[in-house]
Amino acid sequence: MKCTQGGSFSKGELQRFGNIELSPSAGVLNYGQGLFEGLKAYRKDDSILLFRPEENALRMRQGAERMCMPSPTVEQFVEAVKETVLANKRWVPPPGKGSLYIRPLLMGSGAVLGLAPAPEYTFLIYVSPVGNYFKEGVAPINLIVEHELHRATPGGTGGVKTIGNYAAVLKAQSAAKAKGYSDVLYLDCVHKKYLEEVSSCNIFVVKGNIISTPAIKGTILPGITRKSIIDVARSQGFQVEERPVEVDELLDADEVFCTGTAVVVSPVGSITYKGKRVSYGLDGFGAVSQQLYSVLTRLQMGLIDDKMNWTVELS
Ligand code: PMP
Repeated sequence: MKCTQGGSFSKGELQRFGNIELSPSAGVLNYGQGLFEGLKAYRKDDSILLFRPEENALRMRQGAERMCMPSPTVEQFVEAVKETVLANKRWVPPPGKGSLYIRPLLMGSGAVLGLAPAPEYTFLIYVSPVGNYFKEGVAPINLIVEHELHRATPGGTGGVKTIGNYAAVLKAQSAAKAKGYSDVLYLDCVHKKYLEEVSSCNIFVVKGNIISTPAIKGTILPGITRKSIIDVARSQGFQVEERPVEVDELLDADEVFCTGTAVVVSPVGSITYKGKRVSYGLDGFGAVSQQLYSVLTRLQMGLIDDKMNWTVELS
């Protein structure tokens, strides 16, 4: 789908996956006008289930506003996702064998030389079957707290899913992986003591019946899994607090876990901060992350009653 600055998107068409042509002076290549989304489709018998696709559409629209880009309407976005998934139905893995990852992408494809929003935009969607995100599978992951590099600053673009945020994490993430960690946990860049998020997922800290997670304040991505897990946890009787969470709280947490479309719910086995390693003594899920993972994934796969009306069934 294409659209000019200030215009609206018209209906797109299905195309075989392949390279696309861009001007060397496309806005996305020169000034980073790019946004993406990520969602998954699960197979259930003869139908396919999407999980809250309108939330991805809304998040893309908020991001587009921040990045001076036009965006598809919620209806256009959801319809395009449905059409793409149905056209690729054969690639959706059988139940229990993974999912189809769906990647909507919005970019400034028009040519622009001086710094300005691009004159033209392209919205496209591609898909790929996927298994687990971390090589650990659903085994606990090991994080390292980054205290020098940051992925987001107040007033910046950390709260939207723009491509540059991911370039910003590559250095710390590659260094962490080279040392054997699964990923990086970022701190706020002002006080350098409040938790933000991991390179591609949100973080939760469990103490007794209370589950705390950093509040949304523009420097972390408002994860759709995060939002869903908050509702699931409350419905399961947990108290959930969205507030500033200090890095020191990791020391006496009972459990820590991450959430995201790709990682679903991933238990954290250990966190290293300034050379000190805090271990949560897990060889699988902790009790709380296990419970939440189980409810969320059964909902996403259509194995329990969807009282929240979160899944969209395609057949
Ligand atoms: N934070 C970041 C930086 C991410 O890239 C993601 C993945 N989209 C998340 C959090 C989790 O968001 P969601 O649950 O919507 O996938």
